[in-house]
Amino acid sequence: MDRKEIKPYSQCNVLIVDDEPMSRMLLQSILEAEFHCTTVESGSAAISYCAESLPDLVLLDMNMPDIGGLEVCATLKATPETKDIPVIFVTSTMDIESENACWEVGASDFVMKPVNASTLTHRVKTHLQNKLRTEFLEMMTFHDQLTGLYNRMYLTKEIPLLVKQVARDKGSVGAIMIDIDYFKLFNDTYGHLEGDLCLQKVAKIVSDTVKRPKDAVIRFGGEEFLVILPYNDYKGTKLVANQLVTAVAEAKIPHGKGIQNRVSISAGFAVWKATEVVQDNIAALIEDADVSLFEAKELGRNQAKG
Ligand code: GH3
Ligand code: MG
Ligand code: MG
Repeated sequence: MDRKEIKPYSQCNVLIVDDEPMSRMLLQSILEAEFHCTTVESGSAAISYCAESLPDLVLLDMNMPDIGGLEVCATLKATPETKDIPVIFVTSTMDIESENACWEVGASDFVMKPVNASTLTHRVKTHLQNKLRTEFLEMMTFHDQLTGLYNRMYLTKEIPLLVKQVARDKGSVGAIMIDIDYFKLFNDTYGHLEGDLCLQKVAKIVSDTVKRPKDAVIRFGGEEFLVILPYNDYKGTKLVANQLVTAVAEAKIPHGKGIQNRVSISAGFAVWKATEVVQDNIAALIEDADVSLFEAKELGRNQAKG
């Protein structure tokens, strides 16, 4: 995702769900001039499509033979990954009970059949705009502008929730604190703009190296990155820390005053039971990793300690 702007409507994927071919064609012909459209012909196909492809909005027929629209919507709303996808019902049966049922399962809106093309297009636009703006604000709130990584706000607001989940599952949490070696000298040699580019490169290497979906890479300070590895143990965390040091060195970013004339990082790691992190606060775990980082620096940099 481009982190700098809201994507245009033409890049939004609208899923049309209707068991009648004519209805699907009609809705698609109205909407495809403005949005990217995908059609499916049953409730079960809609649920599996949404789970896999996360469309931006769903237009949902109420009456379908296999799984009805109300049940499809309720399922989407009960699933964390799909709960924020706006659902608009498109239906011919609109008595008061059906209308209330739509709201109760979490619909964003409904449009009557036969549809007025202009009303449909505008309703879709309104709900897409709401969703895209909310996503954008959320992204801005939790990401660092320069690198696109998570920021300190994410660390303080979201990581504790993640740690609590790991604690309920009786797992442990690894933390790796990373600091670029001799970065002040890099700036002094190549200038601040080149320094920014270097930060972006290192950030990308770190996030490419850290692979599990729940792992989080945070820009902790200027040239410091924090990696949080939920459900990871000492062995796994140590492995990732060493991989990170190697990956940055092997990228061979030139640094005339760096180790072997390259940019390198030092890493300190710590692994705690998640219940202990909950008890003592995430800051204590980070402090523990930071002590090891200091050691890695003292021992000559370009290495991981924990
Ligand atoms: P060490 O090996 O001990 O870590 O040495 P160092 O020079 O990397 O450490 P120090 O903490 O003294 O310097 C960090 C430097 O990072 C200082 C600052 O100029 C630079 N820096 C911090 N944030 C940014 C940024 O956003 N962009 C750029 N270009 N430089 C930054
Ligand atoms: Mg530093
Ligand atoms: Mg440094």
